[in-house]
Amino acid sequence: MVELSFFGGVGEIGGNKIRVISSESQIFLDFGKNFAREKEYFEEPFLSPRELRHLIHLGILPDLPGIYKGDDSAPPPDAVVVSHAHTDHYDPIRFLKDEIPIMGSKMTNNLILAREYCGLPQAGEFIAKFTKGNGRQCCKTFDEIGSKPVRVGNFEITQYPVDHSIPGARGTALDDGETRVVYTGDIRFHGPRAKDSMDFLEFTSSMEPDVLIVEGTGMQGSRMNREEDVHAKAMEVVDHTNGLVLAGYPVFDFDRMSTFASIAEDTGRKLAVSMKQAFALLHLESQGIRLPFDLGDLAVFERFKQVRYAHEDEVVNACSDVLTAEDVNRRQEEMIITFTLFDMNESIDIDPKPGSAYILSSSEPFSEEMWISYDRLRNWLKYLGIPLYQVHASGHARPHDIKEMVKRVSPKVVVPIHTECPELFNRYLSDLDVEVSIPSYENKMRF
Ligand SMILES: [Zn+2]
Repeated sequence: MVELSFFGGVGEIGGNKIRVISSESQIFLDFGKNFAREKEYFEEPFLSPRELRHLIHLGILPDLPGIYKGDDSAPPPDAVVVSHAHTDHYDPIRFLKDEIPIMGSKMTNNLILAREYCGLPQAGEFIAKFTKGNGRQCCKTFDEIGSKPVRVGNFEITQYPVDHSIPGARGTALDDGETRVVYTGDIRFHGPRAKDSMDFLEFTSSMEPDVLIVEGTGMQGSRMNREEDVHAKAMEVVDHTNGLVLAGYPVFDFDRMSTFASIAEDTGRKLAVSMKQAFALLHLESQGIRLPFDLGDLAVFERFKQVRYAHEDEVVNACSDVLTAEDVNRRQEEMIITFTLFDMNESIDIDPKPGSAYILSSSEPFSEEMWISYDRLRNWLKYLGIPLYQVHASGHARPHDIKEMVKRVSPKVVVPIHTECPELFNRYLSDLDVEVSIPSYENKMRF
């Protein structure tokens, strides 16, 4: 028998933290950052969480004994199994005891490290750090997990590749010998690795799970674009642009990076990625992870800075085509440059020529802050005389794919998570032979 408790992702998108307890073991499936709850109280960078206990006090992190650093009042969990390297699925692991193993795919573990090596810690707590004086330091124990079951306590844990908008995403299966629990993480069936998601269904249906914890981000507002649609539409924009092409897309969406790299190649241009992206690619390569493109084919765009961080030095030393705003100014017709709102100070020196274009290739704004940022982006573009195009394909399953998944896996119970409308599943799945159980912060589920 297992007991499930939910400490995030409940009636909300992101912040998944699912505790699974068996007679002998305690596992967390993801331990994600709850952006929505944090924004209720904090406003970065002027008001950031200062201490772990503040986050617990405000109900942003769960008040659980024995899991955080310095608290020995109860045994710690046996492991945290991370589905993928989006921060809303792992970031507060920084507050957990360092000896708790963090388990995930090799790609996920290394993307987490790459992001940490070039970022700042929250509330002073590190997952890993990289400085000029001390080099790389990892504060956690990362364990790789794959399609060969790993035993943790009396759980047998298996992870299988699934398709999502970041590489290395995995679905997870847990078996305590009595109850089988499957967790999709974030998943899609219309992306370049749809076959991985289908193979995951194949495996999980054969294990006849009792519970399927399924993400439902796309249940209200799914767009029907695929990555090849993004390619075709962005290509049309680039074909009609004789100046600079600027493209905004999520940092670690390597599918989108590949799409723009391939469009650049087909149109006689070169894609410039950000310093952070270049560092992540170098880091992955150094760990023996095969990349979907040759780093040598990419340029790197460096924002103006008085002093470089350690990771930036590494990129400058390793990459042959690092460009400043002045360099981009001279090579506008040859480039597609990765460029977000936060790079806009550079646009004055780049001075995009008439006939330049901006392609926004990420999800549409869905919160007040995102609308404010979106308006700022449009103000900059209006000032620069650059039109805005929007082309995007989602990283999340479409509703009919979710239904087909439930039908194929055929669990006894479905638990919708990572969605603002879990109740919608009740009626939507009511013609299938499955019970829908809506999670809540307060109630535990036992199977
Ligand atoms: Zn995700």
